[in-house]
Amino acid sequence: MRKYLSLLVLIVLVMAPFSGFGQKRTFTVLNQLQGPQNPRLGFMIHGGAGVLSKSTMTPEKEKAYRADLEKAVVAGYKALQEGKTSLDAVEIAIRILEDSPLFNAGKGAVFTNDGKNELDASIMDGKTLGAGAVAGLRQIKNPISLARAVMEKSEHVMMIGEGAEKFARTQKIDLVDEKYFWTQHRWDALQNILKEEKEKGKPGHVGVSSASRESQNRFGTVGAVALDKNGNLAAGTSTGGMTNKRFGRVGDAPIIGAGTYADNKSCAVSATGWGEYFIRLGVARDVCSMVEYRLMPIQKAADTVIKEKLQKLGGDGGVIALDKFGFMGVSFNSEGMYRAYIDANGKAVVEIY
Ligand code: ASP
Repeated sequence: MRKYLSLLVLIVLVMAPFSGFGQKRTFTVLNQLQGPQNPRLGFMIHGGAGVLSKSTMTPEKEKAYRADLEKAVVAGYKALQEGKTSLDAVEIAIRILEDSPLFNAGKGAVFTNDGKNELDASIMDGKTLGAGAVAGLRQIKNPISLARAVMEKSEHVMMIGEGAEKFARTQKIDLVDEKYFWTQHRWDALQNILKEEKEKGKPGHVGVSSASRESQNRFGTVGAVALDKNGNLAAGTSTGGMTNKRFGRVGDAPIIGAGTYADNKSCAVSATGWGEYFIRLGVARDVCSMVEYRLMPIQKAADTVIKEKLQKLGGDGGVIALDKFGFMGVSFNSEGMYRAYIDANGKAVVEIY
């Protein structure tokens, strides 16, 4: 009898850290390590994995990228400080990046093979697992807000093309003329690829070498992850996709579990990179699964998916990730990734390479 009793005590002791009680304690201890500002707030953004290479980045360009990233990360964090939800913070920051011509989302979206802009976005609520996604939009100024409307004002998770735009007209969503998305640098990028295609006599669509893709500025997707004062996580991603995409191609950004994922039980993730690979690996959900099932720290989970699995499959890109305690992870296997976060002292930090 005594033998069984001591065995029972041993089992309880070993299992304690994994029980609700244990988690609560870990939570408190981890929170105390976070620093002086409200320890439960967490906020990170990215502006895409395909950064300008160090050789082509000028001080003026770098200053412009840094300024917009800082503006977005500060605005999102301020919203959290004011008591707004993680979904609000994600939407606020992404709208700022969508309005900037520098990033491949909203105003700065890349061109399709036939010279159009087709935008994709998604958002997820870690508290309810509610999600909204839109793809192939041609007239929506801020796709992230339409994704949120799909989540909150419809029965559905994903809407595409004309149908999604028809729904937008029933909501308070800004529609713009297609010309709004025209920018010189994205147009030039398309022309360069088309020229290259003609010279080589074969399509230069998604799938050419990584160096070539970066030089053609294909990446630049934007995303955000947030943890609010109520402990709710949210994630969102918005993109113009990849330059020269054809046939209604849709990448990972609007696919829940690939480009975006949030669950209060584990983490929130937003991805950027070569979408076809992110879809096949279910990258965003995979990072959170590592945290949820294998109890991995967030940085290790992000590195495992990006630096091991994605790398092995031949894809490139990166993720920003935030766990339920507010710990941050960032991982990429491209030359750089535009990103910004708020550190433990409440200060905005912007990084590129
Ligand atoms: N992931 C996006 C896509 O494949 C592109 C990017 O992140 O730049 O559409």
